[in-house]
Amino acid sequence: DIMTMGEMLIDFVPLKKGLSSKENEGFLRMPGGAPANVAVGIARLGLSSAFVGKVGRDPFGGLLIETLEDNGVETKAIIQTDEAKTTLAFVTLDETGDRDFTFYRDPGADMLYQWEEVDLELFKTAKIFHHGSISLINQPVRDTTLKMAQMAQDMGIMVSYDPNLRRPLWENEQTAKQWIIAGLKTADLVKLSEEELEFITDEKEINLGAKKIMAHGPKLIFVTLGAKGSYFYDGKNSKIVPGFKVKVQDTTGAGDGFVAGVLFQLIKNNVSDLNLLSESMLENMALFANAVGALTTKEKGAISSLPKLDSVNQLLKS
Ligand code: ADP
Repeated sequence: DIMTMGEMLIDFVPLKKGLSSKENEGFLRMPGGAPANVAVGIARLGLSSAFVGKVGRDPFGGLLIETLEDNGVETKAIIQTDEAKTTLAFVTLDETGDRDFTFYRDPGADMLYQWEEVDLELFKTAKIFHHGSISLINQPVRDTTLKMAQMAQDMGIMVSYDPNLRRPLWENEQTAKQWIIAGLKTADLVKLSEEELEFITDEKEINLGAKKIMAHGPKLIFVTLGAKGSYFYDGKNSKIVPGFKVKVQDTTGAGDGFVAGVLFQLIKNNVSDLNLLSESMLENMALFANAVGALTTKEKGAISSLPKLDSVNQLLKS
C-alpha cells in the first residue's frame, strides 16, 4: 500500500536524563529514522509497507534491516553498501527530557542513494509514497528523492512529505527553506510541527502559515501540536482537533505515528483525491492520527512504542 523513503539510522539514547556523562553510564540502541518509523507504524496498524533506501554494510545497517523485517516491513528494496557507514545519532537528554542530537554521517550511506538504484517495481503497487526528514539535505539522495516524488505524482501515486527540520544538519537557513519548499512542490499531503510551519513561512498564525504552505502545492496540511492535538487545512476546512490525555514517557516518534495514522486512514477509505474529503472525514482522520501519536508517547523509543490498531480503537472508544 505504502512505500516510505529516506534515512534509517540508529539513535543512541542515554539511559538517564541529565547531560552529565558521569551519571549516564550507558546508551540504549534505538533503531529508527522518521520514514522508517512511519513504515513500521503502518505495518503495525495492519497495512503493507515497504522501505526504500540505503544503509551501510555494517552491523548497524544489518540491525536496521532486521528490525524492519521483524516488524513486517518489506525490505527487498533496501541497498546495503560498502561506500559509507550507516548513519548514527547520539542523543542527549536534558533534565526536562528535551533531546539534542549529534549525528555521525560523514557521509552516511543513506545520503548516497542514487536514482539508478531505485527499485521501480514498488511504484507499480504503491498507493502512497511518503518521504521526509533529512533526505533533502545532501546529494545525491536529494535528487533521488525529488525524482521519486515527481515520478510518483506522474503515476497517480499520492505523495506525502514530512519536512522534519533538523537545523544543524543544514548548511544555513536559506538552503533549508529552499529545499523544503522544493519538497512541498511535489507533495500532495504534508505534516509539519508548529515550529516548522513558522520556520518555512515566517508566519506565527497557523491559518496564515497553512495558506502559505498550500501555495507551494500540497492539497492537505496537518500541523502537529504536541499534547494539544493537531490542526488540518485543505483549502476549505480548517480545525484544531484536540489530543488525547495519556501518561507520557517519551515523545520520540509521535509525529511519525501521527503520519502513519493519517496514511492508514487514506488507504482504508480508498481516498484517491484529497480535494474530495469532507470536513467530518478530515476530522476523523486527525482524531485517529492523534490517537496513534498519543499512544506512541506512552513508551520509550519510536519503533518500540508504535501502537497496534486494537489499542488505537480502544483509545478512540474511551
Ligand atoms: P512532531 O514529532 O511532529 O513534533 P508531536 O510531538 O506534536 O509531533 O506529536 C504528534 C502527535 O502526537 C500530536 O499531534 C498529538 O496528536 C500526539 N501527541 C504528541 N505528544 C502528545 C502528548 N504529550 N499527549 C497526547 N498526545 C500527544
